[in-house]
Amino acid sequence: MIQEAINFVDSGIAAVQTLVYVDGVQPLLFHFNLMGYGDDIYDALYWVLVGVFQIGVTYALLRPLEALRPVEQWQDRRQVRADVIYTWIAKLGILNLLFFLVLQPVFSALQSQMVIHGLPNLQLDGLYPGVTDQPLVSFLLYLVVLDFAGYWYHRWQHRFGVWWELHAVHHSQRQLSMWSDDRNHFLDVMMQAAFFASIALFIGVQPAQYVVLVAVGNFLQSVQHVNARLSYGSLLERLIVSPTFHRRHHAIGYGHEGTRYGCNFGVLFPWWDVMFRTASWERALEPTGIRDQLPAPEGRSRRYGVGVISQQLRTFGRIAKRLALRRPRSTLGADAS
Ligand SMILES: [Zn+2]
Ligand SMILES: [Zn+2]
Repeated sequence: MIQEAINFVDSGIAAVQTLVYVDGVQPLLFHFNLMGYGDDIYDALYWVLVGVFQIGVTYALLRPLEALRPVEQWQDRRQVRADVIYTWIAKLGILNLLFFLVLQPVFSALQSQMVIHGLPNLQLDGLYPGVTDQPLVSFLLYLVVLDFAGYWYHRWQHRFGVWWELHAVHHSQRQLSMWSDDRNHFLDVMMQAAFFASIALFIGVQPAQYVVLVAVGNFLQSVQHVNARLSYGSLLERLIVSPTFHRRHHAIGYGHEGTRYGCNFGVLFPWWDVMFRTASWERALEPTGIRDQLPAPEGRSRRYGVGVISQQLRTFGRIAKRLALRRPRSTLGADAS
């Protein structure tokens, strides 16, 4: 059934792709004498449309919830506007596409080297023939493996000072909404894309499956940031990361400066947090953000930028400051505050 739904969406998007290409893009390419790029642009258009479809579905499902049962009411939604821009940039796959173009030749070369030297790729779906090669089983297997990697990637984002400054772009949003998931530093987005694509290649994920895995992950992460009272109940909450669980990760004073380096790092599944003792099931709704954004005496009114560009640029200022501070006192910890 899942396969049928995917096929249905795929053929719908492919039909729109042909329509947009033939009626909109092709005449332009012809006009500017760029027909040599036709095939590449036709392929890229598919992924752009997948992104539009994703945003449409997420908006249709989550926006009514935010309007009906908001957790927080805001007068000024300027901060949310920046997140909408991040979402369009991320979902249209512009950065991923760039990354893909740069990295794919490297991966192809690496893979052929592995074949030449007889190094096997770890093909997870071949673990138990008859079981793990079933599409749904292999899909879930990939999801769990990639999520385990995601848990650690997220912990490292909090553990290492410079990395934290990149991730702070995500945490500096004090108005969490369905748009907040894609608010990230572009450098971190590229690193993350490379990290997950490498693992996916290594465990034998097919490109078509990878797209669906990313789409499912993206949707669940948009739900986690929704500004709506949405209870998963105590059972579902322990199976997949709920908005309450992730909001706790964003809570000032808990999520990223609590025991060791915080709590609730799980991306899709909270199991890793349970396993590595970083889970907090506290349901109280706390203000979100980073402590140093607060006015004195609690914080120091630090500004992380309102628009996308200033958020991106200010990050480098914070990194430079952190590196300059570290030089004379090498024992300074990589605190994530
Ligand atoms: Zn985080
Ligand atoms: Zn988040």
